[in-house]
Amino acid sequence: MISITDKSKCCGCAACAQKCPKQCISMEYDAEGCEYPVVNADQCIDCGLCEKACPVLNVDKDEPKSQRAFLVQHNDQKVLAESTSGGAFTALAQAVIANGGIVFGAGYLRGEQLVRAEGAPGRLKVGHFSVESVDELWRFRNSKYVQSVVGPAYPEVKQQLKTGREVLFIGTPCQCEGLLRFLGGKPANLRVADFVCRANPARAVFARQVEWLDAKVGVKGETVLFRDKTRFGYRYSNMCELEGETLYGERLYSEGVETDPYLRAFFADLSDRPICYECPFKKRYRVTDLTCWDFFDVYRLSKEFDDNRGVTRVLIQSDEGQELLDRASSYARMKEIDVEAAVEGVRELTKSVKLNPHRDEFMADVANLDGEELMNKWFPDSGKVKAERFARHTCEKLGIYDPMKRLVKKFIKK
Ligand SMILES: Cc1cc2nc3c(=O)[nH]c(=O)nc-3n(C[C@H](O)[C@H](O)[C@H](O)COP(=O)(O)OP(=O)(O)OC[C@H]3O[C@@H](n4cnc5c(N)ncnc54)[C@H](O)[C@@H]3O)c2cc1C
Repeated sequence: MISITDKSKCCGCAACAQKCPKQCISMEYDAEGCEYPVVNADQCIDCGLCEKACPVLNVDKDEPKSQRAFLVQHNDQKVLAESTSGGAFTALAQAVIANGGIVFGAGYLRGEQLVRAEGAPGRLKVGHFSVESVDELWRFRNSKYVQSVVGPAYPEVKQQLKTGREVLFIGTPCQCEGLLRFLGGKPANLRVADFVCRANPARAVFARQVEWLDAKVGVKGETVLFRDKTRFGYRYSNMCELEGETLYGERLYSEGVETDPYLRAFFADLSDRPICYECPFKKRYRVTDLTCWDFFDVYRLSKEFDDNRGVTRVLIQSDEGQELLDRASSYARMKEIDVEAAVEGVRELTKSVKLNPHRDEFMADVANLDGEELMNKWFPDSGKVKAERFARHTCEKLGIYDPMKRLVKKFIKK
């Protein structure tokens, strides 16, 4: 039976719990807000199906295969503005829905959906669910830098596949491999798209961030956008909060990567789920159909896509992935790029983030302090932070943000 003695060996996908024929595995949240399987040994029949379904115990090999790469930018300016990068995921989802299909992705759980993340910390919860109409796809747009609760999504995918319709599942590399392990293979009507995933922050840290925001803003906003492009564009996206559930409207809060405490914790590698520091799914050649990610330095390969509105890099992992991208070309402009140039220097594709030696200390404070105490202790708005914010905002206003960023990068490399 599955037994988690080392938390860095579990990605929380729940494939084991969903596969158990006796339903004797429950997913339980720890103080960091990460879920792990707990087996009721009295009911376990030792069939071994949970271990067979575990993507961590059965990681797929990183074996070279033929690949192609594309730049993708959605044609609809509203979709593009709401998306993290170029809106490729929305274009792929539109192609599947146009074919009578259904799409599973991650968004804020609302109303009755909240039961899918019962026990998870915080008042704003992100989880996987399905959408069948193009009008609802906005709920998936924009990356949520917090682990999504997979919950019952895998058996729901299976049920939809049985009806014969096309199903698209979008998730982290671990969630995608977990789905394929749960299903025991990839049925012909399933499409799976993952992304280059730096790491996935633990939910308790996001819960503290929301508490901190509540105190700072004085209003309980319903949506946190992790990569808002509406203020300064794609190259300097901001963490922001909105009052309602939509992705537009007045911003209650908006700060960049140098100032926002949650983003500072994320990029300091303090806040991630334990497995992210030794992620076994960091691979160039994946079991998914397509892999999507950002391209801030797109000027290296294309001037026409370098317009500060966002672009997605798409790596084709299978013939089905190519066929789906071809169908999605009705909704987005695309350009093929050299595949080696596309993956060159993309550290997050194949390498895990480094464990910050202060992580345990930080997580102890996450468990014991409220949001305001935590963020003020670890990420104060110091003189250095204020100076960096001033420099970034001034460069942005003068229209020299991008050349300055390139210059600083060059300087750091030397
Ligand atoms: C946790 C995380 C880490 C990432 N790390 C990197 C990185 O290091 N480098 C890089 O270049 N790109 C990274 N990305 C991917 C990047 O942010 C964009 O999602 C990608 O470029 C596609 O953008 P888009 O405009 O095409 O799609 P978008 O419209 O932004 O769609 C995002 C899609 O991702 C799914 N999604 C959103 N949040 C989650 C979540 N928490 N868990 C599972 N699925 C989710 C949604 O279902 C949606 O379909 C990361 C994304 C996430 C969620």
